[in-house]
Amino acid sequence: MSATWLGIEEIHKIGDLEASVYGAKASQLRSLTNLGLPIPTGFFISKDVVNESVNVSGFKISRKFSELKGLYALRASPSHRDWGSIDAILNLGMNDRCVQTVGARIGKRAAFNMYRRFISNFSISIFGLEPEIFENIFFEKTRMMDFNDENLLDEVALSTIVEYSKDRFRQEVGSDFPQSLAEQLDLAFVTMSKSWYRPSAKILRNARGAPDDAGVGIILQKMVLGIGNCLSGSGRINMIDRETGEEKLTGYFIPNSQGNDDGSERTNTHLLSEKERLAEGQSIPSLEILHPTSFNKIKNVAKKTLMGLGEAFSLEFSIENDDFYLIDKVIAERSARASVRVLVDLVKSGALTEEQALLRVAPQNLIEFLHPQISTSFLRDVVGVGIPASPGAVSGRVAFSSQYASILNSKGISAILVRIETSPEDIAGIHDSVGVLTTRGGMTSHAAVIARGLGLPCVVGVSSLTMNISQKTIISDRGHKFKEGDMITLDGTAGEVLDGSAEMTQPEISGAFSTLMNWADRHRTLAVRGNADTSQEAQLAKDFGADGIGLCRTEHMFFEPKRLLVMREMILANGEKKRREALTRLLPMQREDFIKFFEIMEGQPVTIRLLDPPLHEFLPHSKDEMRLIANSMNESLSDVMERSKELEEFNPMLGKRGVRLGVTFPEIYEMQVQAIFEAAVHVNQSARHSILPEIMIPLVSTRKEVEFISRRIAQISQSLEKKIAGSINYKLGVVLETPRAALKANDFGDFCNFLSFGTNDLTQMTFGLSRDDAGRFMRDYLEKEVFSSDPFHTLDLEGVGELILIAAERARQSDNFIELGLCGEHGGDPDSIAFCLEAKFDYVSCSPFRIPIARLAAAQASILQKRKICSD
Ligand code: PEP
Ligand code: MG
Repeated sequence: MSATWLGIEEIHKIGDLEASVYGAKASQLRSLTNLGLPIPTGFFISKDVVNESVNVSGFKISRKFSELKGLYALRASPSHRDWGSIDAILNLGMNDRCVQTVGARIGKRAAFNMYRRFISNFSISIFGLEPEIFENIFFEKTRMMDFNDENLLDEVALSTIVEYSKDRFRQEVGSDFPQSLAEQLDLAFVTMSKSWYRPSAKILRNARGAPDDAGVGIILQKMVLGIGNCLSGSGRINMIDRETGEEKLTGYFIPNSQGNDDGSERTNTHLLSEKERLAEGQSIPSLEILHPTSFNKIKNVAKKTLMGLGEAFSLEFSIENDDFYLIDKVIAERSARASVRVLVDLVKSGALTEEQALLRVAPQNLIEFLHPQISTSFLRDVVGVGIPASPGAVSGRVAFSSQYASILNSKGISAILVRIETSPEDIAGIHDSVGVLTTRGGMTSHAAVIARGLGLPCVVGVSSLTMNISQKTIISDRGHKFKEGDMITLDGTAGEVLDGSAEMTQPEISGAFSTLMNWADRHRTLAVRGNADTSQEAQLAKDFGADGIGLCRTEHMFFEPKRLLVMREMILANGEKKRREALTRLLPMQREDFIKFFEIMEGQPVTIRLLDPPLHEFLPHSKDEMRLIANSMNESLSDVMERSKELEEFNPMLGKRGVRLGVTFPEIYEMQVQAIFEAAVHVNQSARHSILPEIMIPLVSTRKEVEFISRRIAQISQSLEKKIAGSINYKLGVVLETPRAALKANDFGDFCNFLSFGTNDLTQMTFGLSRDDAGRFMRDYLEKEVFSSDPFHTLDLEGVGELILIAAERARQSDNFIELGLCGEHGGDPDSIAFCLEAKFDYVSCSPFRIPIARLAAAQASILQKRKICSD
């Protein structure tokens, strides 16, 4: 035996088999033999042996198998099922002698028919002969022998066709048709091995994600003929309903067939169960009625596989003269909902542990439970592809302005807001829309962040769509043209824009989903909070199981028209006195907001971020709207316009925003802090909940900034304490989102109870990459593999991650108990969540609709961490 013969394993041995050595199919078959299920005997041949057969001339696999007798099949076993496979070669060993012994078992007619098909298949696949040669022989001889129905061909006629086929083979190839099993096996083995390495097969595999050196194992297995005098044939068993995941035995059985051998007659297909037959209204009897013993065997095998392997499979089987064998198993195709239902049922029946079930669900697949999705059967007419900024799918009418979206909404028509990019002025329009599409922007651009918060499907950065604002049209690069009011569909999960409306499946968050979520909560150690800017979002976060609110962006509380006017008056006020007057009018509004937040969250932490964006963002662009503000302020339009001009900045994202507003106009933060404290006092006095508000300062870079603001906050709390003759407790923190703040994180421990990493801005500033313009080139960067993923979506662990780790370590140097959280969009990304757990963070915070995903991802990270610790 040469060294590589070591790469051969008997099928019927107990123990696991490595898919990386023998291929996935081999390892899955072994799992079935481990359960004691009936599998045809034979051998698993490793990828190394297959490689050798390609590279060594004169290679003969038969040397290892000289004692084999009877008929055999060769089946490919690639390492990964998704990489595609190569066709099996069946009935090896069929020859002039064997046809007689097989004939004694299954009848001569059937045996000669098998031999005839074998000669044809073998000649085509191994010797490359044209299929027509054998088709012509078959039809000519059938006619010559006066059989007008090929099914009536008797054994004599079929044996004549066999002889003609062999003659023709001799003419074409120049030698006799190979008769020995050894010769047939050697030829078939090398052909199969070589066809795996054909350049075209390789290209196809690579496109499916296989590496260049992807190999294949081969399985040599005793044939189950599937043809015989008693019950014989092949079929498939499915264990679950593909859509719901409910345990349900379905499938079919084709008498006298050999699975994927094309020659079988398929007009006589029996459904397995009588229930399914009745549901399908099929007249051919079910196997359950036709052959109850075999049906019961199938039922037992399905149950044993489900319970023994803790997974629902689709099983291929063959029956020869009442003897039942499993030939293959693949994971049963199913929707994400069905997967969860199956797992929950398996845990309940004891086949899986909660931990195993939790690890089997891809967190992103939970999206299917939370949002409507386009039905899998719907045929898509994709007109543009962009960045999938907020998941779910929706159909609606195109609205090119927020105003038009609101008009459509008031008439009960679903609107999709289509803009080059959105700005804070579009908030009302976004609220009135069912989805948002922008031709520019990235994962953290305005439209993306707002839509995610509201749970609206959103696709951004669809640069292949060109917007013509004056003509109110969008045109795709393939020439589709849409006017205002036309119907389109957004698939925010795939990042696609579709022509027309689409069939949808609706969300569902009860049943198996909520059971899985409860398990996730039991197994996770990292808290998951929600980012919520309105009380509706806070409620949504609560409903999705948030452990609190990790980020309330207060600027989003001012976009309701009445409030916006006061806000604009405050921004354009002529001097501090006037600004304070406007702030006095905003105070009760903010207080109401915070009371609602505290009441909804029932004592869970609520982190409120003080005003962050540059003030100019709140101002309108049109003269008419400016006039409205000027009138309300009793000032001239020119004065108001002048002051608006003064607020313009060259680079507002790096300008007067965040804490810089708080330092230059302290009265704004003072009003907000006052509103927070008064709201907390109100709710605490109602004795319904105990509120400890968390105040967060955005965009800090230096210790002095924090010191300045914290001093002011302390003064406000002290004066309110005097007024209420009681104490006010609160937590103070900063959004850590500038590289300087990260490096100097030990500067904040004296003032802060917590640091929350604002990874949107931190990514923007670390890369020097505008979060609003990234969509213009991100697709290119990803396609050309300059970035492996969008850093605004998955945390860049190498760069931004290192900065975060440095900051965390330095922050803990100044205060070992300082709380650490992450509130950028990465808070909903599973890889980033695992990173936060490793870095011993206390919480992550993400948009409400991503909370279940984050809860599951946090549970998975904890389970894996625990397993790693145990194995170290
Ligand atoms: C951040 O920058 O990560 C953050 C949470 O704040 P925003 O997205 O509002 O800038
Ligand atoms: Mg930020």
